[in-house]
Amino acid sequence: MHELAVTEEIIKTVTEASEGRKVKVIEIVIGDLSSFIDESIRFYFDLLTKSTPLEGASLLFKRIPVKLRCYNCQREFNPDETFLCPYCNSLGGDIIEGKEFYIDSIEVEDEDRDSEEHFRC
Ligand SMILES: [Zn+2]
Repeated sequence: MHELAVTEEIIKTVTEASEGRKVKVIEIVIGDLSSFIDESIRFYFDLLTKSTPLEGASLLFKRIPVKLRCYNCQREFNPDETFLCPYCNSLGGDIIEGKEFYIDSIEVEDEDRDSEEHFRC
């Protein structure tokens, strides 16, 4: 159920950033190791944004693949399900990428023209 909490957080952040303007697109970055399920976030988002300026906004999810730095040879690699280093065949490494979760950008509708606002949180 933690998608609900994270969706509320997204809505709060975007509501503040968009200052009452109509929101068209929200781009969200999710690392493959973070356990959030995009479909659940989308579901809660649609539910919670009814009759708000965020209603009908598109959620775009950008997945970041997992990247490890090998404990043994220090080289970086994208692991498969075995988590073995392709260079030296030892197991596992430090996680460098894959745990991200943040709003990458939002696109809001302006009265005269479309404007896009980029921010990180
Ligand atoms: Zn290695």
